[in-house]
Amino acid sequence: MADKPLYKRVLLKASGEALMGSQGFGIDVAIVDQIAGDIAAAREMGVEVGVVIGGGNIFRGVAVASKGGDRVTGDHMGMLATVINSLALRTSLGKRGIDAVVLSAVAMPELCETFSQRKATAYMNAGKVVLFAGGTGNPFFTTDTAAALRAAEIGADALFKGTQVDGVYSADPKKDPTATRYQTITHDEVLAKGLSVMDTAAIALARENRIPIIVFSIHEAGGFGTILKGGQDCTIVRD
Ligand code: UDP
Repeated sequence: MADKPLYKRVLLKASGEALMGSQGFGIDVAIVDQIAGDIAAAREMGVEVGVVIGGGNIFRGVAVASKGGDRVTGDHMGMLATVINSLALRTSLGKRGIDAVVLSAVAMPELCETFSQRKATAYMNAGKVVLFAGGTGNPFFTTDTAAALRAAEIGADALFKGTQVDGVYSADPKKDPTATRYQTITHDEVLAKGLSVMDTAAIALARENRIPIIVFSIHEAGGFGTILKGGQDCTIVRD
């Protein structure tokens, strides 16, 4: 393993689903605390960390649309869910003495600050952990795309996508025992093979901005820090 971290500034994306743990809904505080611990370890290494948390543990716009409801309103509800999750993570980071700020793409000044690229960059330069809430602020997008967008805006060296498994596989490892994990793969191959890493818009945005995507298991406590030092199983998507 390398002594120094491989990246100076990273964007961590964790799905909302990861936060609910074994519960069927909502927030499992123990999981949020674990992710906060991983972020704290990265900060101790001197890595600057921005975070995008999804909202799928609480609400997804497509769930409304699939029942004949209004997709845009559903997406607004989904974006609000990401704010709830971000506030939960800020609380966990605060318990560890980590200075974190929530910047929301949707203005709600009583709850948190409103996103701007200049503000985000200034906070990151000052060593704060920046939690990007509210997705992109637009319906019909996902927090994966928000993560790629914010990674590009803050000039992140890498986008860390925390998932249920430890990388990108040739097939679903839960269904196909012959599935193998890629060590590296290009953005183009991910798109051509239709591999479920992140949605297409997110992969395309990362490719255009030459941002590598590190796919790793969010459930491995300490995994984020170990990968930052080059020592753990993961898949690297790069050009
Ligand atoms: N969402 C949105 N615009 C965005 C990001 C998110 O409308 O830019 C909404 C959308 O309804 C989405 C929900 O917020 O389903 C939660 O985000 P996502 O599904 O990406 O969360 P995750 O799967 O990571 O938990």
